[in-house]
Amino acid sequence: MGTLKYNFLKLNRLILLLALTATILTFVNSFYSNYEVQKEQLITQRISVNQAYAHKLADTTEVFLNLSRQQLAYSANGLGTKMQDKTFLAREANRLKYQTDSFNSVVISNATGMTQAASPETLGLVGKQLKSAGSREALEEKRSLISKPYISTINNLLVFISTPIFSPEHDYLGFVGGTIYLKKPNILREILGEHFYRNGSYIYVVDKRKKILYHPDQDRIGTIAKNNTGLDEIIAQKEGGVSLRNSRGIDMLAGYATIPSTDWTIVTQSPLESSLLPLTGIMEKVILKTLPMTLAVFVFIWLFARAISHPLRQLADKAKTLDNPAVSDEIERINSWYVESSSLKKAILSGVKLLQVQIGQLRLDADTDPLTGAKNRRALQYRLEELVAQGTQFSLLSVDIDYFKKVNDTFGHHAGDEVLKQQVDIMNRFSRAQDMVARTGGEEFVLLLTEVSQEDAFAVAERLRETVSNEVFEEVGHITVSIGVGSWLNNARPLKKVLLSVDEALYGAKANGRNCCVMGK
Ligand code: GH3
Ligand code: MG
Ligand code: MG
Repeated sequence: MGTLKYNFLKLNRLILLLALTATILTFVNSFYSNYEVQKEQLITQRISVNQAYAHKLADTTEVFLNLSRQQLAYSANGLGTKMQDKTFLAREANRLKYQTDSFNSVVISNATGMTQAASPETLGLVGKQLKSAGSREALEEKRSLISKPYISTINNLLVFISTPIFSPEHDYLGFVGGTIYLKKPNILREILGEHFYRNGSYIYVVDKRKKILYHPDQDRIGTIAKNNTGLDEIIAQKEGGVSLRNSRGIDMLAGYATIPSTDWTIVTQSPLESSLLPLTGIMEKVILKTLPMTLAVFVFIWLFARAISHPLRQLADKAKTLDNPAVSDEIERINSWYVESSSLKKAILSGVKLLQVQIGQLRLDADTDPLTGAKNRRALQYRLEELVAQGTQFSLLSVDIDYFKKVNDTFGHHAGDEVLKQQVDIMNRFSRAQDMVARTGGEEFVLLLTEVSQEDAFAVAERLRETVSNEVFEEVGHITVSIGVGSWLNNARPLKKVLLSVDEALYGAKANGRNCCVMGK
């Protein structure tokens, strides 16, 4: 199994990371969607404001054009019987020119295009043949007209508004017309030109051929608008709004409306950048408003995830010390409040119980003689070393059954086993809690007596020997034992020597004829 190299991958840290990531992602997502929605709203708003404004300006311009045409129509009406009266015509031309600001100049022409009167008189047009596009159109069409922009004979860029003159008998007599000089101070500029914004918004007017009729930049008047990504839509529709990039490469939000009696379109547009300026303030507010909730969400996720991980962490901690006898109780106390942690806890607990039973069994196996239940040689050795280390004095009785081979030979091995068990039972009666009975060989046993003097040990040996000899062993009857006795008196002699002397004493007891006790030298 691989080990985790990184201490970083602790549940607590992972949870903190989870909470942080979840919170940040949520926050960023909310910020981003808010940003997009607010931006979209600002754009839509700006476009619709511009569209409404273009619409209003188109209406105003329409009203002005209608008024101009009414003025001309009224005048033409009165001219039907006065075409021969040059003085009247001159006065009428001046009246149209000066009474209102509608026209930059006024001309009255006869049916062949010869100028009958003009104002201002300084133009010097009277008696001359009119050749401009507007005049020719008026002569040909013989109806009320607003011309396309063109360059006049005296080099003015203009539009020409004209009305035909008819005699009472409906004969065509000529026309009366007013011009608007697009590049000079004119009525269009008065209507549209005041509307400048500090934020870079402006208004311009184009006709269907993309010719610019009005623009705050004078030089562009009369030119064709190019490289404008929205203009095709603008001249195709009557009214609307569009995001576009203008000829100077600036992103604009435009509203537009067509003037009904012409093919002119008024465009009102604002730079995208300045329109989005309020976004910064709005987003600051959004952050301020969402931050407390975001933090609350973070704390909630964090605490809740910690609560989920808490029992797991505790179980993992306890799993490190499964050999600790108290671990079962500690695991029992862990609050495993949800199903999976509770199953895990149960599984660990039953594992621990099994483990401890097995450990206990192994320990027992390791230091017990399976036939008699007495301690084995290893357990005795361990205990002796422990006592020596503690400096606790003790005595040893080395007990060997006499002629045991015979017992086996006479009564069988099974009967011999029973004798061994009964022998241990007898010795257990001589053993206190701090003492030990060990089987050290086939029919050899040791009784360890702690804090018992050599003399007392010898007395115990004698009583033990007597007890055995008086005991009736099932099937076998009577047996006897020989016992060697010795003591360890706190370093007076090393343990090894004591054991040797006890062995010699036992040997001596055998040599003495058996069924006796001998004190080691
Ligand atoms: P001595 O008086 O000199 O001690 O004679 P002994 O026959 O008791 O001694 P010996 O060492 O000659 O024989 C010991 C016998 O103990 C031999 C063996 O068969 C028997 N024995 C050893 N372990 C067991 C056991 O686990 N069960 C049984 N039934 N007999 C055993
Ligand atoms: Mg023996
Ligand atoms: Mg023997």
